[in-house]
Amino acid sequence: MKSLWIAFSVATLISTGCGQNADKSAENTKVNQLTEQQQVQTKTPKYKCPECGYGSDTTGDCPKDKISLVKVGWYYCPECYMCYPAAGKCKMCGVELKKME
Ligand SMILES: [Zn+2]
Ligand SMILES: [Zn+2]
Repeated sequence: MKSLWIAFSVATLISTGCGQNADKSAENTKVNQLTEQQQVQTKTPKYKCPECGYGSDTTGDCPKDKISLVKVGWYYCPECYMCYPAAGKCKMCGVELKKME
């Protein structure tokens, strides 16, 4: 508890002190961004729109593009948006499938 109080006092001294605190706050911003990124990663939707990237936790259609959402980790055809569980070529168009990430 005592060391925490010292750390707090030092932080106050730095933030009220000289121009060195610019670097310090930039570092803090970096840390915040990292934490936000990690939160986004854990919230990755299970299904995504191959056209606009709209994500959802349930299967269905994209409200904007009216096409079926593709399960993340599956493969889809960039031409007709048919989805497949494995890599390969679209049976309809013969186009190389893309992975939904
Ligand atoms: Zn969409
Ligand atoms: Zn296709």
